Amino acid sequence: MAELMVEPRIRGFISLTAHPEGCAANVRRQVKIARAGGPGEGVGNVLVLGSSQGYGLSSLLTAVFGYGARALGVCFEKEPSEEKTGTAGWYNLVEAHRLAEAEGRAFSTINGDAFSDEVKRTVVRELKGRFRPLELLVYSLAAPRRVDREGVVWNSTLKPLGESYTGKAFDLRHHTVIDAALEPATDDEIASTVKVMGGEDWRDWISLLREEGLLAQGFRTVAYSYIGPEQTAEIYRRGTIGKAKEHLEATGIQLNTELSADGGGAWVSINKGVVTQASSAIPAVPLYLSAVFKVMKERELHEGTIEQIVRLFRDHLGPGKTPTTDNEHRIRLDDLEMLPDVQAAVVERWADINDETLHELTDYAGFRRDFEQLFGFSVDGVDYSVPTEVNRALELVAIEK
Ligand code: NAD
Repeated sequence: MAELMVEPRIRGFISLTAHPEGCAANVRRQVKIARAGGPGEGVGNVLVLGSSQGYGLSSLLTAVFGYGARALGVCFEKEPSEEKTGTAGWYNLVEAHRLAEAEGRAFSTINGDAFSDEVKRTVVRELKGRFRPLELLVYSLAAPRRVDREGVVWNSTLKPLGESYTGKAFDLRHHTVIDAALEPATDDEIASTVKVMGGEDWRDWISLLREEGLLAQGFRTVAYSYIGPEQTAEIYRRGTIGKAKEHLEATGIQLNTELSADGGGAWVSINKGVVTQASSAIPAVPLYLSAVFKVMKERELHEGTIEQIVRLFRDHLGPGKTPTTDNEHRIRLDDLEMLPDVQAAVVERWADINDETLHELTDYAGFRRDFEQLFGFSVDGVDYSVPTEVNRALELVAIEK
């Protein structure tokens, strides 16, 4: 037993602690929305890479609780100890497993590096044993680095291309609006970011699972990407990460050609900007998100990860659905964020956002609450004044060495 008082220890865009009860409540909220949004059946075996947080967690919960899927998830989370909390993703999955088990659902988790051969071998073994044939693979990794087969380490960077960048951003440590400056990426940094966040690993997964004969007739796969507005473009879409996303999207088109021969397909879904650990780390994005949340909430268009993914399954990926795409074969879940009047309203406010106008012109409070909630803090109904068991066990699949 290790009951501790857990308080946030936020350092910039991460918290060093996570609250187990808050994370559990977040998962229960998402499960409720997933159940209400799906028929409760219709999807078979699913593999989710990046299953513990953000868009991947919402995909897992939607598949399992909204569509009755049998699911294998892969994530990279830190377990707790007697003295220290685990990461939020760990606690998210503790609750997801508890709920799934109570209903007798087939759901397993592998906690390890999805880029590694060991984890790939372990997934193959698990799929052969319990989750074949695979109907759907959701690729939702957001990783800072990748160690490839030869042991080479590739790092993902968030930098502009060609010229240095200065632009408005949040200083998440001091809660102030600042001018952020970033030097342009080198060619190596661009190539390295594409290695980590591009489509190579997605393709490796599909090739492996196909060679092993694990894919169902009509197998589908989806990976997630972002485009976003002009305010973040120098750093995001026209930056190093944008190059990686272009590669991911091109990989989706190639995979689609191959998979459609068997009645299946591959898609990249362009999702809406939301607060996750990955997005909070990108300069300019938290400020933009605060501004666009305000506009979208005013128009009752706001969505989080779970609402987006419920919509993805309902309209595009669910049983009997054919995804609707733009002319670059991308599903556009960012349609509401990118509505011309939403974007025009953000542009109109952008120049006037400063420390004094922050709360009036943006939903900084909402951004901050979402951010704290990622780690299980500021969640309604959770009593933070009492100690809680932090050393919560998660039954994991053993990784093959
Ligand atoms: P996130 O940080 O919330 O979650 C990342 C997940 O990847 C976690 O489950 C983590 O455990 C897992 N992971 C990271 N490295 C891993 C590794 N080496 N091996 C196994 N698992 C690993 O991220 P997110 O924001 O949900 O991003 C997921 C995808 O969605 C990314 O492709 C991202 O670009 C895309 N996306 C995000 C946004 C946004 O606003 N957050 C918008 C559109 C698209």
